[in-house]
Amino acid sequence: MSVTGKQLIGGQWQTGTSGSYHAINPATGEKLAPELSFASEEQLRTTTAAAAAAAPVFAATSPEQRSRFLETCADEIMALGDELLDRVSAETGYPRARAEGERGRTCGQLRMFAKHLVKGDYLDARIDTALPDRQPMPRPDIRFCKHPIGPVVVFGSSNFPLAFSAAGGDTASALAAGCPVIVKSHNSHPGSGELVAQALARAAKQCDMPAGVISFLAGNRNEIGVNLVTAPEVKAVGFTGSTRGGMALYKLASNRPDPIPFFGEMGSINPLVVLPEVLKTSAADIAEGFVGSLTLGTGQFCVNPGLVLGLKGPELDNFMEATGAALADKPAGVMLNQAVAEGYASGAAHLSDQPGVRQVSTGKAQENDTGFCGQAYLYAVNAGDFITNPALQEEVFGPCSLVIECRDTDELSKVISSLSGQLTGTLHGTEAELSQATELVRLLEQRVGRVVFNNFPTGVEVTDAMMHGGPFPAATDSRFTSVGTAAIDRFIRPVCYQNSPQDLLPPALRNDNPWGLRRLVNGEWQDGQI
Ligand code: NAP
Repeated sequence: MSVTGKQLIGGQWQTGTSGSYHAINPATGEKLAPELSFASEEQLRTTTAAAAAAAPVFAATSPEQRSRFLETCADEIMALGDELLDRVSAETGYPRARAEGERGRTCGQLRMFAKHLVKGDYLDARIDTALPDRQPMPRPDIRFCKHPIGPVVVFGSSNFPLAFSAAGGDTASALAAGCPVIVKSHNSHPGSGELVAQALARAAKQCDMPAGVISFLAGNRNEIGVNLVTAPEVKAVGFTGSTRGGMALYKLASNRPDPIPFFGEMGSINPLVVLPEVLKTSAADIAEGFVGSLTLGTGQFCVNPGLVLGLKGPELDNFMEATGAALADKPAGVMLNQAVAEGYASGAAHLSDQPGVRQVSTGKAQENDTGFCGQAYLYAVNAGDFITNPALQEEVFGPCSLVIECRDTDELSKVISSLSGQLTGTLHGTEAELSQATELVRLLEQRVGRVVFNNFPTGVEVTDAMMHGGPFPAATDSRFTSVGTAAIDRFIRPVCYQNSPQDLLPPALRNDNPWGLRRLVNGEWQDGQI
């Protein structure tokens, strides 16, 4: 159980034959041992062929078999112990507690899908029995349920080395659905990814899953991602990362001779509205919570609150003052890698250069030249300047936020209406203010995937009711979530059977209901046999 730098191809670990590299510790800038390899195009072709061969075998497994597989994946990840936690911290700069938290979330997601899947609701089984005497035409027997879509490529994110990477939410939901997964390793934390892939491969063996059910490939920059998204055997893609990378890959997926669904979770600036009455009594508390949310994980969260909307006046001034004071004590934090740190510094500088933007406060600057760090920033701008300048809506990935000062509630509504799609929108107000905020809520819900009240957007819960996604550019498909059990819907597609013999139907649709599902039979929900 140690990092080898190899690729998992058709159930076998092989050294990649297309060059080598080292992971970098972002806290020190030093190379991490061992040397890691890049997969060649030929190795990629072998991988996609193995995933395609595994697809029908894996699709035919029962929910109980896949549930056991997911539970075993979680057990094997836990069995990696300190080696995994140490490697995550070394590759990301995350403190031990964050690495442990992510491991808990990752295993929790796998176990959550293991339980969800055996309930069988996601199969959405529907049966309309034949009506031979119907006039003027008899109705044939029609039965509908969901099937796995086929091999899925998962692009792990830089900022979630476990929970959104090799065995993260995309992988867990695709495996739960019955789809083989090819993980495209993130070069920011390749050793962590490999250790997790080793755990998944061991679980696959123990549970007699086909060899190509899980694969792990690293490649030299964009080429491998391009080749994976365009491989004919691949049937869907799960992606978390930048808008630029996501859109490049989305276009490739859509322009294939056989376009495939691409589920990209990309940039978001997560507006947070602070109403004046609540600021009169709670400005300091909200400022403290806001700064905690803004600087958590050095701001490297897709739900980081990058925008604050308020009504110009003494209440908002007090809030900015309290926020500025809380921010001034925050030390610069380690960022995920050199590119993210440089992107953050140039993004914050670009924002501060925009017309009308003024600096309110900063966190502490980096104390030495070691590693890649990011300093917190708070800026402010008038609503008029914000509405007319799209550059102010660009995500600055890190602990940076912009306060929009609005003349009145009409202008506040105009700012919300001018926003592009977001993962979240947050509203802080007194009970009386919230009771008058129906229009703001209606405006927000048109633009976001999750509306948050008197709370903060960071700390995404993994539950049945979670929605993590939103209108473009937050995500490429606003109809789906990438977190929570509903994420399985991305990797299944409906098939219906007309006039089928019983023994050719999938178990979910047979009269004897061997999986004990609740099904929609002739318009009524029904348990048991028909
Ligand atoms: P990224 O640069 O978009 O990379 C994500 C993954 O996609 C990587 O595996 C990358 O592979 C691949 N990729 C990117 N562009 C590609 C292209 N044109 N063709 C083929 N493959 C491509 O995201 P990141 O490395 O996670 O972070 C960089 C930036 O993304 C951050 O600074 C931040 O702005 C944003 N970000 C946003 C979120 C969010 O949830 N909103 C989360 C994380 C990051 P290679 O590295 O091998 O090219």
